[in-house]
Amino acid sequence: MKCPHCKEKLIFSSLRKSLRTPQTCQSCKEGYALTISIGRMFLLLLPVAFSLFMIRPISLYWGIDPTFFSALIIILYGVSCLTIVKRAVK
Ligand SMILES: [Zn+2]
Repeated sequence: MKCPHCKEKLIFSSLRKSLRTPQTCQSCKEGYALTISIGRMFLLLLPVAFSLFMIRPISLYWGIDPTFFSALIIILYGVSCLTIVKRAVK
């Protein structure tokens, strides 16, 4: 993921911390925070529900455990709902 100010790549460890408290970007020293986008969550709800419904017969056809795919879809869903916003660091 990239900094909302300078588009520089952000370090994963500080990204994770920014979920709780805003962090400063390494290169531009501006604050940012990782947050869940409610809009994107709603937007993706239908396609995710649909793929969860569809993946079962497909994975059974392939002979792969459907729970594996379901978990994968839910993880991808969670990750795609995350977004970086500009946030002042106190
Ligand atoms: Zn930056």
